[in-house]
Amino acid sequence: MAGTATKNFSYSEFTKQGKPGAGVPDSVLSEQDRYKVHQLCKAILQPIRDQYGQVSINSGKRSAVHNANVGGSPASHHLYNGMSCAVDFTVLGFADDVQGRADVALFILQRCPFAFSELIWYTTTNHFHMALPTERHGQKVLVKTNRPSPEKYVALEFDPANATASARRVVAQMLKLDAELRG
Ligand SMILES: [Zn+2]
Repeated sequence: MAGTATKNFSYSEFTKQGKPGAGVPDSVLSEQDRYKVHQLCKAILQPIRDQYGQVSINSGKRSAVHNANVGGSPASHHLYNGMSCAVDFTVLGFADDVQGRADVALFILQRCPFAFSELIWYTTTNHFHMALPTERHGQKVLVKTNRPSPEKYVALEFDPANATASARRVVAQMLKLDAELRG
């Protein structure tokens, strides 16, 4: 499974299951999975790395066992079924910097407005979730809260055709919700 997806990302970063030493075997990337991971890295993760420094991949392709262990949805993009492909990542320099994370969100929305089907801002941790577009999935920008369903996710209205202004409004809402929910 050696190989470089883009300059600073290797495929093996997308196959780790949970914390090192957790005892769950790595997942396996098919040829199609490698193509999807390459798209994700090329379109979004490498530009973020070039702009903001080191990016840590927290979760890429989950095995069915690991997905069940972490309470993931059976329809999770992390299973890489069909054209699905998701990643959870942290920009290390901004792990404790909410304004830095807001800059990253703005960068993704303005620079890559059509490159994702899901972008999730977490108020419970410091990482982002992002998934590639598929034919089946519309484009969603969500804030994950610490509330039970149906308030677990708050959907924000993003207009990719008017990305510059729309992204500013969306990120302002992310910061407002983050302050309310973490407070
Ligand atoms: Zn995720």
